[in-house]
Amino acid sequence: MRLLIVEDEKRLALSLARGLTAEGFAVDVVHDGLEGLHRAGTGTYDLVVLDIMLPGMNGYRVCSALRAAGHEVPILMLTAKDGEYDEAEGLDTGADDYLTKPFSYVVLLARVRALLRRRGPGASPVLRLGRLAVDRGARRVERDGTAVQLTAKEFAVLEQLAVRPGEVVSKAEILEHVWDFAYEGDPNIVEVYISALRRKLGPGLIETVRGAGYRLVSGG
Ligand code: CA
Repeated sequence: MRLLIVEDEKRLALSLARGLTAEGFAVDVVHDGLEGLHRAGTGTYDLVVLDIMLPGMNGYRVCSALRAAGHEVPILMLTAKDGEYDEAEGLDTGADDYLTKPFSYVVLLARVRALLRRRGPGASPVLRLGRLAVDRGARRVERDGTAVQLTAKEFAVLEQLAVRPGEVVSKAEILEHVWDFAYEGDPNIVEVYISALRRKLGPGLIETVRGAGYRLVSGG
């Protein structure tokens, strides 16, 4: 899952990015409303955390512009308690949820996950495919009822396949959703993670579709 943080308070933006990256999200940060609008409009993000008071263009205008252009990306707005704006206005412009500053990181994380689940296939946090269960809420994976320990990045790669079971997911799509724009390494990193997942989950679950990508199947 790839997130965009649009927040001009650099320390706050950085600490959010660090925390969310440690949870396995790919996180990009911009500090300006116009740049936020431009990036969010590329359609590569699964969720946008959007501050209201921003240089360039304020969060309300960014949000309305995205919705007017037909973008349905979930938006979590950050409001300041003593500000002249209120959350009702944020929701009016098409935000999905809001958080009032100062907020606890744990609450932010819970809201982010809830928004991502709400958008995913069905409201259930647990994706099931054959003998595999991927719990997006608890970040847990089970095969045949036995927990499989994955790193945050491995989980993120598996999640990209699990939200589209049976479909071919390209290496580029996985890269785009799991690694952030600072990543300039070898795109074959995806293969490394797929190999690790195969080793941990056992054979027959992740198929390689030559020249196209990978597909999660129900396995034997
Ligand atoms: Ca601000």
